Amino acid sequence: MDPRILSAFRDVVGNQGLITHPEELRTYECDGLTNFRVTPAAVLLPATGDQVRDLVRICHRERLAFVARGSGTGLSGGALPVRDGVVISLARLNRILEIDYANQRVVVEPGVVNAMVTQAVSAKGFFYAPDPSSQLVCSIGGNVAENSGGAHCLKYGFTTTHVLGLEVVLPDGEVIHLGGRTLDRPGYDLTGVFVGSEGTLGIVTKAILRLVKRPELVQTLLAAFDSTNEAGAAVSAIIGAGMVPAAIEMMDRLAIKAAEASVHAGYPDCGGLLLVELDGAAAEVETLMQQVRELCAACGAWEIRVAQSEAERMVIWRGRKAAFAAMGRISPNYIVQDGVIPRTTLPHVMSEIERLSSEAGLRVANVFHAGDGNLHPLVLYDRKIPGQEKAAEVLAGEILRLCVQVGGSITGEHGVGEEKKAFMSEMFAEPDLDTMQLVRCAFDPDQLSNPGKVFPRTRLCAERTGPYEPHPLEKAGIAEFF
Ligand SMILES: Cc1cc2nc3c(=O)[nH]c(=O)nc-3n(C[C@H](O)[C@H](O)[C@H](O)COP(=O)(O)OP(=O)(O)OC[C@H]3O[C@@H](n4cnc5c(N)ncnc54)[C@H](O)[C@@H]3O)c2cc1C
Repeated sequence: MDPRILSAFRDVVGNQGLITHPEELRTYECDGLTNFRVTPAAVLLPATGDQVRDLVRICHRERLAFVARGSGTGLSGGALPVRDGVVISLARLNRILEIDYANQRVVVEPGVVNAMVTQAVSAKGFFYAPDPSSQLVCSIGGNVAENSGGAHCLKYGFTTTHVLGLEVVLPDGEVIHLGGRTLDRPGYDLTGVFVGSEGTLGIVTKAILRLVKRPELVQTLLAAFDSTNEAGAAVSAIIGAGMVPAAIEMMDRLAIKAAEASVHAGYPDCGGLLLVELDGAAAEVETLMQQVRELCAACGAWEIRVAQSEAERMVIWRGRKAAFAAMGRISPNYIVQDGVIPRTTLPHVMSEIERLSSEAGLRVANVFHAGDGNLHPLVLYDRKIPGQEKAAEVLAGEILRLCVQVGGSITGEHGVGEEKKAFMSEMFAEPDLDTMQLVRCAFDPDQLSNPGKVFPRTRLCAERTGPYEPHPLEKAGIAEFF
C-alpha cells in the first residue's frame, strides 16, 4: 500500500492500530465462512467513533475500498476483505455507554459483544432479546449489519425490532444519526434501511438498543419424534393454535448426534427433536405448556420433558446453541446454509434435501428455527478429498434454489454477503435489484463501503438506472456476466 496513505492512517490510530504484517493480516482474511479468503492491504483498529470517521475520510479521499468488521463470525463472507482494500475492525469500540432502565434502552458501541448487553442489565431484570447462537462472540455492529436473528426472535423479533437509533459514518466520512431515543419518528425509516445492509451503506459507531423486561416464568420443553415431518406437524399445530412461543427449534438425527458428542445435552436419539420455550405470566405459561405437551403427543412425540430447573433448561439450550460448532465432531469441514421456507412445505423440502444429499454423496445435518421456517442445513464434507469442497458448495446452492422454488428466501439471518450474491437474481427481478442499487448509491455513490457484496454484479452509480441494459459485447456474445 502507498506509504503516504499508510502514514495518514498511522496519524489517526498510531502503530498500535495499524496491521500490515502479512502473517497478522491473515487473521482477517475470512469470516466464519472460510471457503472465501482475501488478504487485505491493511487492517485498521480504531478505538473511537472519531477515529472511524477520520479513517473513512482518508479512504474516501484516496478512493480506497474498506470493509467493516465486528467479530468476524459472519457466515456469508460479509466481512471478507476486498483485494487492495482495508479492513476497519470495530473490536476496540466495545463500551456500553449508557443504560436507561426507565426508558428501557441502552446505548452501545458497535464492538460490544451481544451477550454482554444482557449481562450488563440482567441484575435489574432486563435482557437484550436478539440472541444469535454466536452471541458469546458476535458484535452488535455485526448484528445490526446482518439484521441477525436467534431462537427467541420468533416472539421478540429480529435485530431490526430492537434498534431504535444509530450513529453512522457514511462512506464519505460524514457522521449522521438515524432514528433516535423514541419509538416512532416522522420521515423515512432510514434506521430500518440501514439494519441488514451488510456493511454496504457505512459504518455503525453507536447503536441505541431496546431492552426487554424478563418475563415472570420461562419453561422449556423437549419433545422427541421419529422424524422431522412429525416434529414439523407439531410446530404447525402449536402455531395454528394461536400460540407465539418464545422459541421453537428443531434438530434432525445427525445434528443431535453432533451436539451430543460435543456438549452432552442429554438429547434422546431420535429423528426429529423439538425444543419449545414459552415465557410470560406464570399462569399463562403453565396453561399453554400443557397444551403444547398435548399437541406434541398428538403428533407422535414419544418422549416429552419439561426442564425442572434453570440449570436443566440451560443444558437443553446448550445442545442447540452449540449445534453448528459441534459439526466439527462428525465432519472435518462443513458449510452452514441459511434459507427460509413456508413452514408447511417442510416435509417436501426435507425429502428433497435428502434426495439432493444422497445424489451428491454428502451428508446434510439440519438445524432449524422451526417457528420462522428458517432452515440451517449443514453440508458436511472433507476439504482434503479432491472435489468435495466444490460438491458441497454446489449442494448448498441447490438447497437455496429449493427454498426459493417453494416460495421462501435465500437467507433468513446470515445475510447475502459474498456467498449468496449470485442467488439474488434467482429471487429478485432486475427492477428490484435496480431499486436496491438506487438506495445503495444514495449512501455510497463511490461504492467504497464493502463493495462487491450482496449484489450479483457491481453497478457503477453513474450508470443509467432502470432495467439492465446489456453491454454491446454481451449482446454480441463476446462477453457475459457471471
Ligand atoms: C457458530 C455460529 C452460530 C451463528 N448463529 C447465528 C444465529 O443464530 N443467528 C444469526 O443471525 N447469525 C448467526 N451466526 C452468524 C453471525 O454470528 C452473525 O451474522 C453476526 O451478526 C455477525 O457478527 P460479527 O460481529 O461477527 O460480524 P462480522 O462477521 O465481523 O461482520 C458481518 C457483517 O457486518 C458488517 N459489519 C460489522 N460491523 C459493522 C459495523 N459496525 N458497521 C457496519 N457494518 C458492520 C461487516 O462488514 C459484514 O458485512 C452464527 C455464526 C456462527 C459462527
